[in-house]
Amino acid sequence: MIRLENIYKTFYKKKSEVQALKKVNLHIEKGDIFGIIGYSGSGKSTLVRCINLLERPTSGQVFVEGNNITALSDQNLIPYRRSMGMIFQQFNLLSSATVYENIAFPLQLSGHNKDDIKTKVNALLTLVDLVNKKDDYPASLSGGQKQRVAIARALATDPKILLCDEATSALDPQTTRSILSLLKKINQELGITIILITHEMEVVRAICNRVAVISHGEIIEEESTQVLFKSPKSEITQELLNPSLFLEIQA
Ligand code: ADP
Ligand code: MG
Repeated sequence: MIRLENIYKTFYKKKSEVQALKKVNLHIEKGDIFGIIGYSGSGKSTLVRCINLLERPTSGQVFVEGNNITALSDQNLIPYRRSMGMIFQQFNLLSSATVYENIAFPLQLSGHNKDDIKTKVNALLTLVDLVNKKDDYPASLSGGQKQRVAIARALATDPKILLCDEATSALDPQTTRSILSLLKKINQELGITIILITHEMEVVRAICNRVAVISHGEIIEEESTQVLFKSPKSEITQELLNPSLFLEIQA
């Protein structure tokens, strides 16, 4: 479904440069819930932004269903961008718009009529269990409810892929579980492929079927979740799996 081939991304500052991604090769299958885990600064957000080309790789190619989208102009990229929804740690909702209006926004942008928008938004409100909050503003919602609005908004244009960048990192453990089970339902019932960026192994364990570990811009390990938890190869993976133990050893 998505294939990344030899992706490099270098950020150039005035006198220095940061190699945020180095020779990244990944293959994400249709229907996967694919985890990408790594420490802060390891290149996760850059990687996910290179998948929908919000960030153009310095070199390398991104294939979506066999099509090399890195070769496309911004104009021709529009349908591919629309096929990828995205959610973030900080939700990114419009504060001056109601829940209903936030979810309707991408549909208005793509020119749907009012009746279609109403049908679609109401179905999404049911899916994310926010029917009774539709006229509320984001400021009055809990973190979990805000993320549900963001998920509904991301699904409004019927994407095939959902990119989640630390989507549960601002939430408490119980709310994290409810959002993860919503993501699992979206994957199973709507057949949406999910790419889930996180720094928490528990998130990976809860819903991912495959996982890649990224460190200093490189994929250092890629496995099925089961195998990775059973026999982690790299030291960084072992550390991510058992952070408290490593703190004790270092102390
Ligand atoms: P993560 O999401 O894993 O925390 P990022 O992808 O945000 O990591 O960052 C990876 C590296 O790239 C970091 O060193 C970061 O400072 C650098 N970086 C990210 N975005 C930019 C940018 N727009 N300009 C310069 N450096 C950047
Ligand atoms: Mg990040």
